[in-house]
Amino acid sequence: MGNQVILIEHPLIQHKLTLMRKAETSTVKFRVLLKEIGMLLGYEVTRDLPLKHEKIQTPLASMNAPILAPEKKLVIVSIQRAGQGILDGMLELMPSARVGHIGLYRDPKTLIPVEYYFKVPHDIEKRDVLVVDPMLATGNSAVAAVERVKSTNPLSIKFVCLLAAPEGIEHFIEVHPDVPIYTAAIDEKLDEHGYILPGMGDAGDRLFGTS
Ligand code: URA
Repeated sequence: MGNQVILIEHPLIQHKLTLMRKAETSTVKFRVLLKEIGMLLGYEVTRDLPLKHEKIQTPLASMNAPILAPEKKLVIVSIQRAGQGILDGMLELMPSARVGHIGLYRDPKTLIPVEYYFKVPHDIEKRDVLVVDPMLATGNSAVAAVERVKSTNPLSIKFVCLLAAPEGIEHFIEVHPDVPIYTAAIDEKLDEHGYILPGMGDAGDRLFGTS
């Protein structure tokens, strides 16, 4: 998988991920955990954000201090529905990030994603994009979402998820070899309905209590 897949093995993320996987974890807890992991993932995927230096005055002295380059404001594009959970956590960490939404649902028979909503900031060409969805399963939604985001010409794109299936990673890399995948775990395989095994079930249903 080369350098394109970045496995985020931070112990706090791994611990929270295990709690999320448990069948007995309630919707309330699942929501809190996904938000917390969203925050931690946000911390990990922004390690390479460029800094500039600004002259500031502390109570004792002046200094040249690092600060985020302002023109580098990010756009977080959430794949609905479950992307919302990661988005909420990332926004807590980066409140000035811009937000885009892409609505895709999986046709339950074909597993092919159907777009029903797309809205991103008008100046996305000047921004770096994080496309977020907890699950990279067949890869169909992620591939379609990234394709759509690419059509808006952002500076760069990273795909961020919690769990990935090997099949989804392979599919994604085939279509988007230029987009890095950040994931907290790579699971075993997909079941016949396109769910990740062992996985955590339907992330949208667990997040919103709709199962
Ligand atoms: N989407 C989910 O929410 N869960 C899976 O296991 C696969 C896709």
